Amino acid sequence: MPTRFLIRFDDITPGMAWTKFAPFEQAADELDLPYLIGVVPECRDPSLTVEPERADFWNWLRGRAAKGWTIAQHGYTHMYATSERGLLGIGSKSEFAGLPYSEQYQKLAAGKDILVREGIWHGVFMAPSHSFDGNTLKALKALDFKAITDGYGFYAYDVEGLVALPQLLSKPLGLGFGVETICLHANTMSEASIKRMVDFIKAHHTQVIGFGEAIAIAPPSEMLDRLSRVASQWTLRVYRLLRG
Ligand SMILES: [Zn+2]
Repeated sequence: MPTRFLIRFDDITPGMAWTKFAPFEQAADELDLPYLIGVVPECRDPSLTVEPERADFWNWLRGRAAKGWTIAQHGYTHMYATSERGLLGIGSKSEFAGLPYSEQYQKLAAGKDILVREGIWHGVFMAPSHSFDGNTLKALKALDFKAITDGYGFYAYDVEGLVALPQLLSKPLGLGFGVETICLHANTMSEASIKRMVDFIKAHHTQVIGFGEAIAIAPPSEMLDRLSRVASQWTLRVYRLLRG
């Protein structure tokens, strides 16, 4: 089975870079592609408002969900509260990691309430800056979340009773097995990188799958699953060390 690609967009907000996102949306409409998008329930992060706010934001989201896109809850306000790397050891800021359980629960519940009210809560969590800790996972479980879109390796696995679908890179590797989640931030992409990525998606559209399908792909063997997780974890650590 060739590599499957899940296309993930972070930082979906009313004031995101709609003009940069448009070519991706157009490709999805042309080829019927189900993206995974991380919606900030109540965006207070001014850096995420880069174009005029879209008045029909929630309606637009409901339309996308009806087309098979999966909506992930991308934090609550996207305001960083700590400088914790969290369980994955990525980044150095977090909206959640390091905060007491009750505080994390309240923030996650408030975000969930908004998405439930708008009819687009899918029970998937996307941590801002990939940073979360044991208390985040406990709170997500208590709030009936089913899955997170972070982790190491190329296949979904269980973490504290939640499904973790690994997310490693912002560029496709195409190793010939498993699922690669390609993490994109349209707001900060250059015209050239947008064109490259849209061309890639179009050329590989038969390999692009949705979140539900991605978490259902089982590793051919448990050993390959564990090996790929450990190998990708160390490869990324060394890569980040070298990059400084
Ligand atoms: Zn974000």
